[in-house]
Amino acid sequence: MVLERARTPLALSDLVVPAPGPGQVLLRVHACGICRTDLHIVDGELTEPKLPLVLGHQIVGEVVAAGEGVASPRVGDRVGVPWLGWTCGVCKFCRSGRENLCDRARFTGYDIDGGYADYAIADARFCHPIPAGYPDLQAAPLLCAGLIGYRCLRMAGDAPRLGLYGFGSAAHILIQVMRHRGQRVYAFTRPGDSGAQDFARELGADWVGDSNALPPEPLDAAIIFAPVGELVPLALRAVDKGGTIVCGGIHMSDIPSFPYSILWGERVLRSVANLTRADGVEFLGLAPTIPIETHVTVYPLEKANDALDDLREGRLRGSAVVSML
Ligand SMILES: [Zn+2]
Ligand SMILES: [Zn+2]
Repeated sequence: MVLERARTPLALSDLVVPAPGPGQVLLRVHACGICRTDLHIVDGELTEPKLPLVLGHQIVGEVVAAGEGVASPRVGDRVGVPWLGWTCGVCKFCRSGRENLCDRARFTGYDIDGGYADYAIADARFCHPIPAGYPDLQAAPLLCAGLIGYRCLRMAGDAPRLGLYGFGSAAHILIQVMRHRGQRVYAFTRPGDSGAQDFARELGADWVGDSNALPPEPLDAAIIFAPVGELVPLALRAVDKGGTIVCGGIHMSDIPSFPYSILWGERVLRSVANLTRADGVEFLGLAPTIPIETHVTVYPLEKANDALDDLREGRLRGSAVVSML
């Protein structure tokens, strides 16, 4: 399914199966998770994609060919390919454990063709083994919603009372990590979104409410997944002194101005950008120990546009995944 240009539907196309170059592997794609970032690309809010482009950066597939010099993964291995597809290894960010900020980073399903396809090429060094026991469809959302969500959770710090703004793919995974750790979960949704609120309650949220409501007690931290700038001052008002607000999305509408008093008190406002390979190792090691279960709605590849529409309109519970099997 190919994006020819922004703000047009993906087109079902026949492409030549690519051959892996040195250091690369060819995957037979089994499943690919759908991410809000994909919507931002289709909708033209992320402005520099390669075009035409195959979207998709939560790829689960089997290695069917390996290029020159690849020792691992091996043909037959099942691997996941996340958003971070290549880094330079020499810039100041790469050399300081922050390859997520690499000046020349290349991203799967943005700079590199992704996983809304039967086959995909990936740099072998950026493939992650999928934990045994996870079905393909359930594993796919771990690769971005889970993995970047987990990075957000880490950046939120030690927060006994943590708010989640937007209860979609990432939040439904993170709530399982938080409950496992004994953190109290405050789930904020679009005002009146009873479907998302019921879902949060079913997954064990301690408090559920509209995003414009204040929680019953001040929060220690909050993570904003919804791409809505108006949520930033709302979250600042909900968080206690010393608390952190993490913006987890790659794109957000403009943040309205707000009085300094709601930032005062050593509140911290920060974003989380991308992921490192170390994040992937840590989170994919953690997921089966909890174990995290993902709730997925499955679409055949040729229905990828329907999946994107359902995500845009807030009709999904949990995660959407396209299946190639
Ligand atoms: Zn993503
Ligand atoms: Zn770099």
